[in-house]
Order: sequence, then structure tokens, then C-alpha cells
Amino acid sequence: MIRIVRPATFIFLAATLIGCGQEEPDQNTASSPVQVDLILTNGKVLTVDGSFSIHNTVVVDDGRIIETGPVSITENYDPASVVDLQGKTLMPGFIDSHTHIRGRPQRYIELGDVTSIAEIQDLIRAKAAEMGEGEWITGYGWSEDELAEGRRPLRQDLDLAAPNNPVTLTRAGGHSAVVSSLALELAEITDATPDPEGGVIERDSNGAANGIIRERQNIVGRLVPDSTYEELLASLEVNLNDLLSKGITSIIDASKSPRQYAMWEELYESAELELPRSAIQFQWRNPEAIAEVKARVGDGTDFLKIGPIKVFADGGFTGPAAYTLEPYLNQGDYRGYLNMPEDELIAHLNEIHDAGWQMGIHAIGDAAIVLVVNALADALERNPRQDHRHYLNHFSMRPPDLTMELMADHDIHITQQPNFTYTLEGRYAANLDGWRLDHNNPLRSPMDHGITVAISSDILPTGPMVGLYAAVTRKGMSGVVYGPDEAITIEEAIRGYTLTGAYLNFEEDLKGSLEAGKFADMIVLSADILTIEPERIMDIEIEQTYVDGKLVFEKE
Ligand SMILES: [Zn+2]
Repeated sequence: MIRIVRPATFIFLAATLIGCGQEEPDQNTASSPVQVDLILTNGKVLTVDGSFSIHNTVVVDDGRIIETGPVSITENYDPASVVDLQGKTLMPGFIDSHTHIRGRPQRYIELGDVTSIAEIQDLIRAKAAEMGEGEWITGYGWSEDELAEGRRPLRQDLDLAAPNNPVTLTRAGGHSAVVSSLALELAEITDATPDPEGGVIERDSNGAANGIIRERQNIVGRLVPDSTYEELLASLEVNLNDLLSKGITSIIDASKSPRQYAMWEELYESAELELPRSAIQFQWRNPEAIAEVKARVGDGTDFLKIGPIKVFADGGFTGPAAYTLEPYLNQGDYRGYLNMPEDELIAHLNEIHDAGWQMGIHAIGDAAIVLVVNALADALERNPRQDHRHYLNHFSMRPPDLTMELMADHDIHITQQPNFTYTLEGRYAANLDGWRLDHNNPLRSPMDHGITVAISSDILPTGPMVGLYAAVTRKGMSGVVYGPDEAITIEEAIRGYTLTGAYLNFEEDLKGSLEAGKFADMIVLSADILTIEPERIMDIEIEQTYVDGKLVFEKE
């Protein structure tokens, strides 16, 4: 446990730490100490400055860092409170530069972390008790790859847990759902119902619906009552607050509508819980609405602002739908697809660039990456813009070197999710092989090409330690190492998850490192992340989180 030391005790502590040869500061002759809010001292302070300096002490006042340095700097200050870090590691809070935080209705259950069908049943039972009989139960995020039973949950599994509640649970990736018997009945889906256009009602060997609906889950989902604004707002507040317990002090949320932004604004004005700083990516569906919001909020506040425009170039590895240069493994000529026709996508990128916006572009497959980079390079040559900071979200496949050279030449950056190497291992192994599989989510090669690479989570999962672990070890869940030549150092990974994320948001002078003048957004770790065995990185816990110099989370 970290001790908060009263200033009177602290003078003694500081003197002890400095050593016997030093004298206590003489109040009569020394210039009088500066009053500050907070000093954290006796720690291993990873500043993440240009040379990754490690200091002992951080001085904070009015939400900003005043100074970092050796313990002796404490002599110059008169702090209102002092934290004795007892040798623990203090570093900048994580900046998750690609994530999705949502408010959820009360009927919703989160299934991203479940590891068995039995666990799903427990969650359904608990929710049914909370909501009452007859109420719809929804959920998202299960995947048979993660379930101990090694199979998908079916209709009968849901019926056992909640026979009197209609249930619909969407698989991770959103391309299918399992629904309960009561849900099928309410949707008037019988064994005789034909498949909807573009979708499949799966049947068992007797021809009866097994509960799985592919691609057209809305034939059931349309019956779920709308959630109220109030329940979504309250849930958004809880979900944003929860990020602080994971050491995340800033996010870029990757795609909301101007209407949803209004909810975030209301939340940031009225929240009772502590929140991280957020920037929101809008999608370009309604440029006028985006321009209107931008004109109204300007640069936003220190806590909420508008980020880059989001564009979707291709899909992901569920399906799979990422657009690849070579066919997928064992799937004929299939290479995934673009989200819109190629000429439309190129026109779209040019239009947004010309409108003066920064872009964060979803590009996962190598063919999508090549196409987007070529289009951006052309747009930048036709209409040059200093410091545009366009970047690719994901970059999950390694493109040809020529593409990476083009990115470096045109300052096209990346925010990438090394945690995918760990959690999506099964999907990569099912769809890719050889060199392409080994170089999934490459880090070393783009960095060596001179590309700026930030690290983020895309909520798979949200906790940053998984990404740091995989960036350093290149290990999948099974323990298999993929392309060790793509590994980076823990220092590089930490910088990618802090300062580089700030850079992608034009905020490198405000946050991302512990340097004078920046926001005092900091976390205390349970272990020394620089020296711990890489195998144990995921065991590291967040002990304290500070935002704006204020303690906003402390582990029990
Ligand atoms: Zn995403």
C-alpha cells in the first residue's frame, strides 16, 4: 500500500533519502519553498521523455507537472500532500488511441471475457433475475474459440438458463447471434421459415432451428425494445470510469455520430464519477453535421474533443472480411472485400483530405493498406498539407516494403493492436499461413521504416498489459511465438501506448509523458514493468491512477 505522508513527516523522510551528509534546508537563508499541491517521491518514475529518463520524484500543481527529478528537488517545494511511492514504478497514464466505449442498456450482458458456455448461462440467469420474466436479454462478444466446451452456444443452452426470457447474444465480430427458443417464437421463426435474404437460419440434423442466425440477426433483434437515453448515459459514465482502473487516462473513441457526441458532452458536463480524457472520431456520413458540431465546440475542452474522421476501408478477420493481396488459406480465390467500391473509397479519402480534416482509417488487410496508402500519397502530392497526421487504424497485415516506404515518406502513421496477436490468434491461424501469419500485426518492420506507430486496444481486451505483453513477446494465447523479428522493446511499447497516442491527437505537448507543463495524468504499477520477466507483464496491476493531478482510482 502506498503511504500518503503528511508534509511534516516528509521533511524527515526526504532528509533520510538524501543521506546523512545533507543538511535540512534552512528556512532563514534558502529561498522560500514554492507551495504546490502534490509531490510523489521515492519511486521509479518513467518519464517517457525523449531519452526515456528515469527519475525519483514528480512535483504537481494545479493539475500539471511542475518538475521531475531526483529526490533533492523536494527541498524547493512546500507540498500540500506527499505520496511515498516506496520504490514503485510511476509512469504516464495509458493513451488508448483506438477503442470503442459505449453506454449499454440495462438488459445487456458483456460476453467479451467469458470462457465457457456455463459462464454465459450464469450471466443470463443473473440478468433474468435482475430484469424479471419476459424481459429481453441481449449481449455481445462470445466466441467459440474462447469457450471451454469448444463449440458455439445453441438455443437449448440459453433456454436452460432463462426459459421465460427471450435472449439474443451476438457473437464477437457481429456477424452472427444465438437466440433462445422464446426469442424465435416471438419472431415467428419456425422450422419451416425460409432463410432471410443474405442470411442463414441454421438448422440441426432434424431440420429444426438451432438458434444460430447468421448475418441477418435483426430478424430477431428488431423486437428488442429501444433503450432509454438515461440508461445509456448512466452506463457510458460507468464504462468510461472503469478505464481508470485499467490505467487508461485518455482515449480516442473510434467512431461515433454527431448525435452520440451530444451525449458525451452532456456526460462530461454532469458526470459524478471521474472520467478519462476523450477524443471522438466521427464517420463522414454527414459532413454538414460534423462541421456544425466542430464549429460549435471548436477545439473542445481538456477532457472532450473531436478527433480525426473515421473511414472504413475493409473488414476484419471474423468472416473473414479483411481485403488481402493473396487468397485466404483454404478458401479458394476469396480475398475479402472493400467496404465500398474502390473508386468510391478513393474519392471519399480525397474529399475528406481536401476538407482539411485529419483521418484515422480502418485498414486491416494488406490489399486495403496498399490501396489506402496509395490514395493518401496521391492526395498529399496533389494537395500537400503540413502536419496532416493521417493514420491507419489496425495495420494487421504486413504490406510490401514499398508501401511502408511510401508511408514514411508521406508521414502516414499507424495505431495498431498487438493484443490481436494474442487474442485473435485462432482467427489468424484459420485464415493465414506462413509469412503472412508470422507477420500479423507487425511492429518492428514499420518502426524500422521510420513510421510512427501508436499502440491501442480496440477493446480486445481493453486492459493495456495484453498489448504490451504481445508487443514484446509476439506470443498468441497458445504460447506460440509469431514472427519474433516483429517484436519491439518494452520501452518502445510503452511509448507507443502513451506519447505516440498523444501525438496522433496533436496533444504531444499536453500529455503522454511526465514532463514539466504537461497534465499530471499518471499511474502507479504493482511491479517494475521495465525489469519484470516478459512472461509476467500481464500480472502487473494498476495500483493508482491520477488524472489532472487528482487520485481517481486506487486499488483496494
Ligand atoms: Zn475498432
